[in-house]
Amino acid sequence: MSTNAELKARREAATPRGVAVMAPFSVARAENAELWDVEGKRYVDFGGGIAVLNTGHRHPKVVAAMKRQLDAFTHTAYQIVPYESYVALAERLNQLTPGPGPKKTAFFSTGAEAVENAVKIARAATGRPGIIAFGGSFHGRTMMTLALTGKVVPYKTGFGPFPADVFHVPFPIALHGITVEHTLQAIERLFKADIEPTRVAAFVIEPVQGEGGFYVAPPELLRALRALCDEHGILLVADEVQTGFARTGKWFAMEHHGVVPDLMTLAKSLAGGVPLSAVTGRAEVMDAPAPGGLGGTYAGNPLAVAAAHAVLDVIEEEHLVERANRLGAALRGRLEALRPRVPELAEVRGLGAMLAIELTKPGAPREPDADFTKKVQARALEQGLLLLTCGVHGNVIRFLFPLTVPDAVFEEGVGILEQALRG
Ligand code: PMP
Repeated sequence: MSTNAELKARREAATPRGVAVMAPFSVARAENAELWDVEGKRYVDFGGGIAVLNTGHRHPKVVAAMKRQLDAFTHTAYQIVPYESYVALAERLNQLTPGPGPKKTAFFSTGAEAVENAVKIARAATGRPGIIAFGGSFHGRTMMTLALTGKVVPYKTGFGPFPADVFHVPFPIALHGITVEHTLQAIERLFKADIEPTRVAAFVIEPVQGEGGFYVAPPELLRALRALCDEHGILLVADEVQTGFARTGKWFAMEHHGVVPDLMTLAKSLAGGVPLSAVTGRAEVMDAPAPGGLGGTYAGNPLAVAAAHAVLDVIEEEHLVERANRLGAALRGRLEALRPRVPELAEVRGLGAMLAIELTKPGAPREPDADFTKKVQARALEQGLLLLTCGVHGNVIRFLFPLTVPDAVFEEGVGILEQALRG
């Protein structure tokens, strides 16, 4: 097998720089919360394939379910020849997601595709064009989801113009001095200056911003949005692509907020590493698009659906909702204890195991320190711990370890993290 250096040279020659790569090594194999590179070096994985591996790499039950499906059939195109497992998965998600029924679910392949389709469904259901999203948000890399995304570099640079009738308001971030009141005032101004509420189809919001920096939406914001939606006939779309499936210490982050969205987008950890996404929502809203208006060649692929059933079983059987709370509390405690010794550590935040730290210039919690953040990430990687950053200023380290991580591996990862922060 090639070395990491050889593979890097081939990658740079054969693939565009736009597909930027974080790790200086290539993977050979992976298991639960560990991976090994092509030269045999082992890493503890606290990145989870960007929030996809809540049930770990290659969970034996997920692998077994996919093997069974491989031996039965791998593709028919659901819209041509349907299969029961798709319907059963829709039934499970209709039950699991917050809010009373009746609900319906349609499957797609990527998070961006789910968000695109949520917008289509919301427009069809309301007969209105406008979509309001939030600063710092991330919803995907397709044209509509780029329009919704609230971060220019690197996602939107050079790719416009984007679809019209998309508007942004600030996302409340207490650390940066942006309050819920500021956000609500911005919405009021938007309704006066840019689009009347009767032309707005939906608000699209991440209940905890993911790529934007793991900022938790204040429950009072979501309650206010719900009230505005009810007043003006607008739909509330919760993008739970990154927050879903036990990560936040509940099945879905919206359960923390006690607010029921009209539509939810789901992906990432839904199928444990196989591309699958979903839009789940109120049945009458989901039924707005005409027959043939939703779908896709691979949407709801049988292998991915089989994996998703196993993922849901594992979350239940291994009590991963509870484990997310336990691991999150342990990590939070360790990070809080480090604060006196790491002056750059401005904030530890998140819900359940969806935790992050924001790193700033010492004593200046509004001056992001992306260089220190990169240094911590590099030091950790050198010691064999894979960490992901996020945040509009690139000064946040987020933790997305598998919720199935064995205690000893978790302890090892946290130990390396502590060392990397202390320098
Ligand atoms: N929405 C959110 C909240 C996300 O975090 C992401 C991916 N980071 C997406 C949408 C897009 O998902 P995908 O990359 O699968 O298209």
